[in-house]
Amino acid sequence: MTTDPKLSEWEELLDFDRRHLWHPYTSMINPLPVYGVESAEGVRIRLADGRELIDGMASWWSVIHGYSHPRLVGALQDQAASLSHVMFGGLGHKPAVELGRRLVDLTPAGLDKVFFCDSGSVAVEVAMKMALQYHHARGNKDKHQFATIRSGYHGDTFHAMSVCDPVTGMHHLFSGVLPRYHFVPRPESSFGGPWDGDEMQPLRKLLADTHRSLCALILEPIVQGAGGMRFYHPRYLQEVRDLCDHYDVLLICDEIATGFGRSGKMFASEHSQVVPDILCLGKALTGGMLSLAATLSTDEVARTISAAEPGVFMHGPTFMANPLACRVASESIDLLLESGWRQLVANIEQCLEQGLQPCCSLDQVADVRCLGAIGVVELHKPVSLASMQKRFVDRGVWVRPFGTLVYVMPPYCIAAADLDHLCRAVVEVVALEN
Ligand SMILES: *Cc1c(COP(=O)(O)O)cnc(C)c1O
Repeated sequence: MTTDPKLSEWEELLDFDRRHLWHPYTSMINPLPVYGVESAEGVRIRLADGRELIDGMASWWSVIHGYSHPRLVGALQDQAASLSHVMFGGLGHKPAVELGRRLVDLTPAGLDKVFFCDSGSVAVEVAMKMALQYHHARGNKDKHQFATIRSGYHGDTFHAMSVCDPVTGMHHLFSGVLPRYHFVPRPESSFGGPWDGDEMQPLRKLLADTHRSLCALILEPIVQGAGGMRFYHPRYLQEVRDLCDHYDVLLICDEIATGFGRSGKMFASEHSQVVPDILCLGKALTGGMLSLAATLSTDEVARTISAAEPGVFMHGPTFMANPLACRVASESIDLLLESGWRQLVANIEQCLEQGLQPCCSLDQVADVRCLGAIGVVELHKPVSLASMQKRFVDRGVWVRPFGTLVYVMPPYCIAAADLDHLCRAVVEVVALEN
């Protein structure tokens, strides 16, 4: 029995948690260990037992300014005091307009129409629905299929799932219910490597064969996130854009993970100077404070949808454009623009490259790659999540591997010494795997 009353309270909390609460991708019979979190500030996560961890995950790409940033907390409190929520049907408010203005300014030229939604998966659903309605409006009755590339991740709702990698997305579990769309192999030409023109063959063939039934192609530009943490050649995205134009197929870029500077550009599609027809944003949009996402489209897409029967876009979430989330998102974007993020991210990239370099010589490591504020160590074999996570926690860092991948994407404000500590922990822990 513990004598510290706070710890015994935590034991009770975590016991309830274990018995009653689902966590992401885990079991209710044999759940993975859960560490209680008391608070978080900057790049430090404080655990129930008083230990502090340097955050290597930015809570899945979202917490780019660190935790409890006073500007974000202040914006949230201030907004809560005047307007926490109001329905967006028939009513408008300043936080939505101000965020909309920022997003229209910040995103590549042409993406001028903004649909606010609650989460990334919903932003993807909305994007796919826009593509369907766009072709419906133009009388292209047969264009209702989607194409994508393998190793992608687009969320966990049904249509988002249908374009996730069929293997890692476990499509076999949902066969019969999940729509079956078209997949081509993922691009193998890497971000900094040589371009292999043959990469385009499978997609060229797919579009030539099926374009009459295709309404859109969806992919994550340059960085494939949860489907494999891979960085592909910018030329690939340019060629995708050209093929989509040629075959009258809309291009949806899912920048939910990559948006807001993570890859070294404000949006990863800028590495290729490609502008999609529809763009999905989420995760770092509010700096990780609240759930909010947005689907932006071109004027052409929005007008076409609106000009035909039924004259409206068929979507309207209850918490659409929630004022708290919108206000915090605007504050987060202002912070980002004032932060010198380009330099911060470039410094992180350099530190990750140096700090993770020792992994290259380990037998268990297949590849080490960095882009922007993302560092990835790919192993030959899947890691044991529970034991590896404990080793990271014992070294004072928070890193959550999946499959064969140990990766870090810290908040942009991480200090050099903390980043160094994080990298050393990764090297040590990976070295212990066999
Ligand atoms: C996380 C993610 C999503 C889903 O976002 P949620 O907010 O978890 O629904 C979709 N696409 C990409 C690329 C993501 O990384």
